[in-house]
Amino acid sequence: MLVNEEGDEMLYTYVDTEYAPEKCSLCNGTGHSEGGICQACGGQGNVLVAQPAIICPLCGGAGNLETGTCRACGGSGWALF
Ligand SMILES: [Zn+2]
Ligand SMILES: [Zn+2]
Repeated sequence: MLVNEEGDEMLYTYVDTEYAPEKCSLCNGTGHSEGGICQACGGQGNVLVAQPAIICPLCGGAGNLETGTCRACGGSGWALF
């Protein structure tokens, strides 16, 4: 997901960034959404977020907008980058 398969050197570029699992907002940590497996976390219930974790500024951490799943965070509710 976060690893470029062709570029191991990229790992070193981001070595100072720590990632930690945060609860997925779209499924509220259950890993399941209305259609089945949660598309935001892939059914894990958590998503890896760069630390310190920042709540998605577009949806405010809700994971959803009036227009549908938040495209900025993919529904996870966290700023992934
Ligand atoms: Zn989820
Ligand atoms: Zn969002």
